[in-house]
Amino acid sequence: MDFPITLKVKDQPCLIVGGGEVAARKVNSLLQSQAQVTVVSPELCRSLQAALEQQQIKYHARSFAPEDINNIVLVIAATNDAQVNQLVARTATARYIPVNVVDCPELCTFIVPSIIRRDPVLIAVSTGGTSPVLARLLRTRLETMIPTAYGQLAGLLGAFREQVKSRFSETVARRRFWERVLSGSLAELVFSGREEQARQALQAELDNNVAVAARTGEVYLVGAGPGDPDLVTFRALRLMQQADIVLYDRLVSSEILDLVRRDAERVYVGKHRANHAMQQGEINQTLVDLAREGKRVLRLKGGDPFIFGRGGEEIALLAENNITFQVVPGVTAASGCATYAGIPLTHRDYAQSVIFVTGQLKDGSIDLNWSMLAQAQQTVVIYMGLKGVDIICTALQAHGAPATRPAALIEQGTTRKQRVFSGTLASLAEIVAQAKIHAPTLIIVGDVVKLHHQLAWFNLDHRG
Ligand code: SAH
Repeated sequence: MDFPITLKVKDQPCLIVGGGEVAARKVNSLLQSQAQVTVVSPELCRSLQAALEQQQIKYHARSFAPEDINNIVLVIAATNDAQVNQLVARTATARYIPVNVVDCPELCTFIVPSIIRRDPVLIAVSTGGTSPVLARLLRTRLETMIPTAYGQLAGLLGAFREQVKSRFSETVARRRFWERVLSGSLAELVFSGREEQARQALQAELDNNVAVAARTGEVYLVGAGPGDPDLVTFRALRLMQQADIVLYDRLVSSEILDLVRRDAERVYVGKHRANHAMQQGEINQTLVDLAREGKRVLRLKGGDPFIFGRGGEEIALLAENNITFQVVPGVTAASGCATYAGIPLTHRDYAQSVIFVTGQLKDGSIDLNWSMLAQAQQTVVIYMGLKGVDIICTALQAHGAPATRPAALIEQGTTRKQRVFSGTLASLAEIVAQAKIHAPTLIIVGDVVKLHHQLAWFNLDHRG
């Protein structure tokens, strides 16, 4: 069994034998740890050449000689010559100098783990040299789960260490304090870029200032994207996994809801046209109330919360009530559906701008600036337009758009059920009327729609 350690190589002489791309990668990691690197090799690859020119490394342009190991704290052999690698390993081992031979675990006295850097936090994954690929795979998983601001968090905690030590002389009390602090909202404050607020909260906790410290309740207004769970952002996923309660819309798919922490309470707040499960005002107030109870409240919405999502209204009341909140953008239906349908929203030849509008009916008509929307060389994306598709296509033509202008309707975009119906302003309404359509749907109008036939790549079996 290996004994895991991290080695302090800052300003220490380290030797790399070999001058290829593999050697370059090892040089790079050593430089990240601020080691003093010497490379021995008859030749250098381009990236090592660049490192030499920038004086990041020392270089001996020749084959390895045993004396190279004098006054060295660590050696890595990365040549493609088995004999050289063996000589390096033998020489180093005889002198008890840690040596690693790339891809040759039996010659190594140490293994270089796959690492996740959140300086000063360092996470290492090692398979003991049995499968570097598996280690890298695990690393990728961890990378996505651990926010990049972990280093900042560690820095903040480090800055308070002495103060906490003098306040709690006993180790157990100290540990309790840190555990309590870290299970609250502190980390999330740092991750969402509010370090000063985090510092104040930590200070308040330390000073026993209950008024400031006890505000642990908070709201996450999170965009869940258009349907495909793969389009959820890392930040959204993290918040979904730490919420105590989730309020979600009809547009949030069950696959996405499955990503929410298992024991979080789930509340459906609806929105199915007139038949709202909860009125908007009631939702706004519920968010405030739940946060006041100290809960971590996840408000999960389809697409992006700030695009036809009334996200602004929901956080206005939170801001008024001084409740901590953060907003996480999501992939909006326009970009999700367009990309999954192979329709670029802008294109040098066809569209220099793109407009998002809502096609919701008000008393049987739609109140939009039709002459602006009918112009050429742009793409118009219509949310909530299924009911009004006929009115929309007719109005655009009445305001000067040609009947031949391409238009498409995308049903349940980005999901396995996605279908794309494409036609023109003259034909779309009829095409849609012939099919049994399921919400949600999005309409795209403009010459870019032509590209769908050439660029479609997703769910091709379901082409409408
Ligand atoms: N905030 C959301 C939009 C909410 S309005 C966003 O940024 O995407 C609801 C409308 O969004 C629906 O009526 C439909 O027009 C559109 N929509 C949302 N998800 C969709 C999907 N997967 N496929 C097609 N349209 C979608």
